Formats: sequence, structure tokens, C-alpha cells
Amino acid sequence: MENILVVEDSILSSQMIVNRLTEKNEFKVICVKNMAEATKFLDNFPEEIFAAIVEFKLPDAPNGEVINIFVEKNISVIVFTVIVNKEIREIVWSKSVTDYVLKIDPHNLDYIMASLRRLKKNPEIKIIVAVKDASFAKEIKRLLNIHKYNVIVAEDGLEALKFIENNPETKVVITELNIPKMDGFALIYHIREKYTKDDLAVIGINPEDDPLLSTRFIKYGANDIILKKSFIPEDFYRHITQNLENIEHIEMVRNASLIDFLTGLNNRRYFFEFGQKLIENALRNNISLTCAMLDIDEFKKINDTYGHDTGDLVLTQISSILKSKIRKSDIVARIGGEEFCVLAVNMKKEFVFKVFDNLRKEIENNYIDIGNGNKINITVSIGVYNNFLPNLDDILKKSDDLLYEAKKTGRNKIVLSR
Ligand code: GH3
Ligand code: MG
Ligand code: MG
Repeated sequence: MENILVVEDSILSSQMIVNRLTEKNEFKVICVKNMAEATKFLDNFPEEIFAAIVEFKLPDAPNGEVINIFVEKNISVIVFTVIVNKEIREIVWSKSVTDYVLKIDPHNLDYIMASLRRLKKNPEIKIIVAVKDASFAKEIKRLLNIHKYNVIVAEDGLEALKFIENNPETKVVITELNIPKMDGFALIYHIREKYTKDDLAVIGINPEDDPLLSTRFIKYGANDIILKKSFIPEDFYRHITQNLENIEHIEMVRNASLIDFLTGLNNRRYFFEFGQKLIENALRNNISLTCAMLDIDEFKKINDTYGHDTGDLVLTQISSILKSKIRKSDIVARIGGEEFCVLAVNMKKEFVFKVFDNLRKEIENNYIDIGNGNKINITVSIGVYNNFLPNLDDILKKSDDLLYEAKKTGRNKIVLSR
């Protein structure tokens, strides 16, 4: 859990920050009342401070002087202030703070919380900057680094495209029209061949605030525009955050629609969407494919004897075993009530039986605690089709037939295609 240091002389105000930040156990918050205490604390506290929330006007530091002691140590600072005038704004930005928050804003605590969560996430997020003016690129990079983003500056359009290809974690590209080798529009065109606006946000820089250029950027597939002439950090950060939040929300909805709620495994929809892709990729690269259809034996009895909740518990436990056994390159999904399917690539023919038989044994030997001192175990039957067919439905039909044979001939066993 990250440590947050609050430097605030008003006890009421710091108490409100503490309450909000510790609500969901995401942060540990420590409060001090002035700059002297903060300095002493930084010198003696053995753990790392992730960020500081500081009052701009403290009794022993009336002009934001406290910010320095954190920035010097590379600690992110969010400034809490009663008023924002031109002077305070300038002092704050000149000291490379993460942001400032107005005390009178009723949403200020939500804002602080959102900023801290972003700071936690941002090191994983790659942003590519491809603009003509080197000093502007440097300034953008500096601002993004303050927010802990992982920033890559590209010298030209071709380089930007190469960086995107090599860094699939890229979420934002900031570009302008007149960049060398491949102009901004061509760059967007190539990006959009692979990534939609929901996967990767492109922000176009409009150097002369030309409305026609902004329109063209959007028509070419940019998500958003930043006007260079009226560039200010507050606005820049807002553009970045909003675009990222859009992408993240869509990603969340997409994930929710592809994951089985009970077990956390991929669901049937995911299986059909990505299973066919896996097959096509295997075909192109001449890779072997194995499909295992797995069904819990006499599961109805579990529900009838111990109740539906116990049935659910069994499903979750089997899913955990499956998750832990299946490689990242393969797909495992819950495709029906008590039916699972594994689509595996590159499995050596001589090991296939052993792999799935070990899985079967592991499930059989796994005793599930169902409460009140009772433990039960269950068994599964597995049909494994181990030949290549280019169509997912055909492969599933074959595996299903083999599974049926396993059920018919005794259950708790594997039937493997010849
Ligand atoms: P077999 O060995 O032939 O596969 O017998 P079975 O009892 O496992 O198969 P059957 O198809 O007769 O029953 C499957 C049961 O799975 C019936 C259904 O109520 C139960 N089931 C399906 N989805 C869920 C679920 O999400 N939770 C629980 N608890 N039970 C479920
Ligand atoms: Mg069953
Ligand atoms: Mg079934």
C-alpha cells in the first residue's frame, strides 16, 4: 500500500483527506502540520512516500515553500489551496507539481483520489510523442513524466510507427501534421489500420489554432486536438486524462463482456471470438493444435445434495485449477454450465494424454472444503481432439463426440482422438 503524506495545519481538512483516501484501503495516510514537521518526517521515515498532499499556505511556509522538499526527492505533490490567483498558479507550475486542487471545490477529494490512482497506474502506460519542435516535445515529455507516464519521443513519423509496433502498451500518441518522413495524417492512417480509437488515442497538435486543421485531424482519425497557442498544463493534463479514461472505460466494459462472472475464466463469447483467431494463427505458422472438452461428472448430484452454492464453489475451484495449469499462449474458457474447453497450441503429441490425464487426476485428488467440516471431491471426463481442422465448430464437434464417449464408457477418464 502506498504512503501518502499530508501537510496541512487544519485538522478538519486533513481528517477529511484521511477518511477519503483510506476508505478502500488503497493508501496509507500520515499527517503533519507544517513544513518543519514534514522535513523531520522525510528525514526519519524509513519507507517510501508515494505522494504528498500539501497546503500551499502553511504557518512556517506561506508561499508553497514546502513543495520543494518533496520535489527534490522526486515525490509527487498535489497542492491544496484556498485560492488560485496568477501568482500562486505560476509558483505551483514552476515547481513541477502534479496538480493543484481548490479547497472550495466540493469534488476536490474525488479529484485527489482520481489523481493518486492515475499516478499508480501511469508507469504502465506508454505515450509516444512525435512533434516537430524539439523544445515543445521536451516540455510535453517533462509534463508527462511528472505524472509518471512512460514517454517515448520519436524523431519522425516512421519512428513513431515503429515504436507503436514495438510497444503494444501504447495508449496515446501525440503528433502534429508537419513531422519528417511520414506526416501526421499518414501516421494516423497507419495507426488506424491496426488500432481503433477505443484502443489507442491520437491527439493532434494544432500549432496555429487553425480550425480547419483541427477538423482534418479528426476526419483522419485523431481522437482529440490540443491547441498549441493556448497550451497550459491544466488543459494538457485534462486532454490526456480524459482520453485515457475513455479507453480504460471501454476496456473495462469489453473485459466484463468476455469474462465469466462466477469463475473469472474467459466466457463462451470470448472462446468463439478468440478461438478462431488462435486456429488461424496456428494454421499460418504451421503450429499444432489440441482441443480438450471437459465436463464435470454427475454435477447435478452435487447441486441436488449440497445445494447450488456448493455447486458454484466447485465450479470456481475447478476453474482455479484450470487457470493454473494452462499456459498463457492457450485459451481456457467456461463454455457451458459445467463444461470447459481448452484450446492449446504447440503441445507435443506424445505428451498430450499425460497433460490432460494429470489435470484429471489433480481434479480428482482435490478435496473441496464445503464448510461444517465437510470435504468433497469431484471428477471430470475429457474429450481431447488432437488433429488439425481449420474450423472451430468442427474441432468442437469432434472433441464433444470424444467427451461423449468418455461419459458413456465410465466417466472420470480421457478419450483421445487417434
Ligand atoms: P454428466 O456426468 O453426464 O455430465 O452429468 P451431469 O449431472 O454433470 O450433467 P447434467 O447436464 O445432467 O447437469 C449439469 C448440471 O449443471 C445441471 C445444472 O443445474 C448445473 N449447472 C449449470 N450451471 C451451473 C451454475 O452456474 N452453478 C451451479 N451450481 N450449477 C450449474
Ligand atoms: Mg456434467
Ligand atoms: Mg454438461
